[in-house]
Amino acid sequence: MSIKLEHISYKYSPGTAYEKAALDDVSLEIPQGSFVGIIGHTGSGKSTLIQHMNGLLKATEGALYYEGENIYQVGYNMKKLRTQVGLVFQYPEHQLFEVDVLTDVCFGPKNQGLSPEECEARAREALELVGFPESAYKDSPFELSGGQKRRVAIAGILAMKPRVMILDEPTAGLDPKGRDDILDQIAELKEKTGMTVVLVSHSMEDVAKYVDRLVVMDHGKKAFDGTPKEVFAHYKELEEIGLAAPQVTYIMHALAEHGMNVKTDATTIEEA
Ligand code: ADP
Repeated sequence: MSIKLEHISYKYSPGTAYEKAALDDVSLEIPQGSFVGIIGHTGSGKSTLIQHMNGLLKATEGALYYEGENIYQVGYNMKKLRTQVGLVFQYPEHQLFEVDVLTDVCFGPKNQGLSPEECEARAREALELVGFPESAYKDSPFELSGGQKRRVAIAGILAMKPRVMILDEPTAGLDPKGRDDILDQIAELKEKTGMTVVLVSHSMEDVAKYVDRLVVMDHGKKAFDGTPKEVFAHYKELEEIGLAAPQVTYIMHALAEHGMNVKTDATTIEEA
């Protein structure tokens, strides 16, 4: 039970003067229940990659399987895929538009054709899961803080009961406290629901602490793929492909947490 990408390549505007290769021969498998971080600098192909995972973009080359089924086969149920693989876009609060929080979170289930009672039950459950206070269910989504808006947007996807949740830069634009809060919340959510979670970030700092697997993207290719410990062992190459110095510092701390020592000259890593 998983999402499996086989040799996926993608070009924007193929055959035109604006042709842009965004993914180049990416193969990847995401088993059900895993917590995967996708990192890489801006423009490395992260957003393009995740939009393939729920069929929003169709690969120029390659195949994609969801739970063993080729999603590009004729007659494939794309609607089901999009319900089961929920995608929370960057700045998801831009998609909040209903008069109050509860109605907003109901939007997805309503579109699935559920009864108003079922929609509301789903919305309440989702809001509770993201730690949104019940006293503010009737507030306008536009009056909330940045972090709360993001919780509402995440709840909107959760209310559709996806099996996989993909979050594109969920911490973008939040202050450090808001960033930690939302990441803790996502980790807690993952624990409670057992969903597969894919967390996209340009910052190692954001994801390293939480995920059990890291996929590093660079220029449309998969550069590294493994446990955080396996990936951090390549810290020099990571720095070369655009992870800024403070992030490398963080990696050293993270490495230590994972039972590895880093010498202060940052040239040697060894098992503790
Ligand atoms: P990331 O999410 O890692 O920042 P993207 O997947 O957004 O990377 O972008 C990968 C590459 O594709 C970049 O070079 C970007 O400029 C290009 N790109 C992204 N979206 C479009 C688009 N709609 N049209 C043309 N090129 C695009």
